[in-house]
Amino acid sequence: MEQVPVGRFAPSPSGYLHMGNLLAMLLAWLDIRSRGGRLIFRLEDLDPARSKPAYIRALAEDLRWLGLDWDEGWPDPAYAQSRRTELYAEAFARLEEQGLVYPCWCSRAQRLAAASAPAPGEPAHDPACPCARLSRKERQALEAAGRRPAWKLRAPDRVLSLTDEHYGLLCQNQARELGDCIVRRADGVYAYQLAVSVDDLDMGVTRVVRGRDLLNSAPLQSWLIRTLGGTPPAYCHAPLLTAGPGEGKLSKRLGSLSTQVLRRETRPEALVGRLAWLCGLRETEEPATPRELLDGFTWEKVRREDISLPGQVSSG
Ligand code: GLU
Repeated sequence: MEQVPVGRFAPSPSGYLHMGNLLAMLLAWLDIRSRGGRLIFRLEDLDPARSKPAYIRALAEDLRWLGLDWDEGWPDPAYAQSRRTELYAEAFARLEEQGLVYPCWCSRAQRLAAASAPAPGEPAHDPACPCARLSRKERQALEAAGRRPAWKLRAPDRVLSLTDEHYGLLCQNQARELGDCIVRRADGVYAYQLAVSVDDLDMGVTRVVRGRDLLNSAPLQSWLIRTLGGTPPAYCHAPLLTAGPGEGKLSKRLGSLSTQVLRRETRPEALVGRLAWLCGLRETEEPATPRELLDGFTWEKVRREDISLPGQVSSG
C-alpha cells in the first residue's frame, strides 16, 4: 500500500508571522494537498523566554484566515514542543549511549544556545569547540565547580549529502564546515536541531517544506533521524522573501509585514494571489485562494532565487 505523504507547519511563536513565513506555509500546504497527503500543525515553542501566548493564539488564526487547513496538531497540547520533553530526553539518552554528545562549558556555547531555529545571520553551530577535547580530569574539575554545562552533538566528520527537491544536491562535512551544535542548553531546554528531528521522526513526517534559511540544517537533521533509527523525510525548501536586494530574509522584527498588519489591510485572497505571483506560481497578481492554486501546482514554477520586496524598510 502506498504511504500517505505527511507534511507539517512548524512555526515558532516568537513573533507574529510575516509574509515570508506565509509563503513557506502556503507552499507546504500546496505540496501536501496536491499529493493528497496529511498536514500536521506543530508548535515549536521550545524556548520559554521567547514564546508568547499572544503569538501562539495568532498562529492558528492567521493560518485559518489565509485558508490553510491542517488535519491534526495544535491546539492539542501533544503537538507543542514544550510538552514533548520526555521524547527529546529519550533521544538524547540514545545519543549519549553512542558517545555522540558531550558537555560544553564554554561561553560561546551560551551565546549560541537559543533553543529555536537559527535566526538569519546567526551561526547555528560552533566549529572547533574546545570542550569536545577535554580530558577526563578537566571535565571533572568543571563538573566540581558546579556550573551546569550545555550539551553538544558531535557532528560527523564526513561528507553528508542530501538532495533537496527544489535546490538539488547539497554536500557538507558537518564537523569541518558547520561544527557541533547544541542539543541541550545549560538550563535543560532541548534545542532546535534535536527537537525538530525527533518530532519529524515521531510524527511520521515524510515531506519537510520550509524556508531556504534552514536548507543547511537538513543534512544534519536527516543524519540525526537515521541515527535515531528512522527514515528521513524528503526536504523541499522554499525561496525567501527579503526586504530588498542584499537585505537578507524577512524577520519577525519587520512589523509592517506581520500578519497583524496584513490582516487589517488586505484580504486573504489578495495576499495569497500576491504570494503566488511573487514566487512564480502565477504570472499575474490576481486574487486567489489556496485551493484555486492547487490546480496546476508544480514546484517547477516556483523560483529558486530569493524574492525581494521593494519598498520595505527594516525597522531594525
Ligand atoms: N520553527 C522554525 C521556524 O519557525 C521552523 C523549523 C522547521 O521547519 O524545521 O523558523
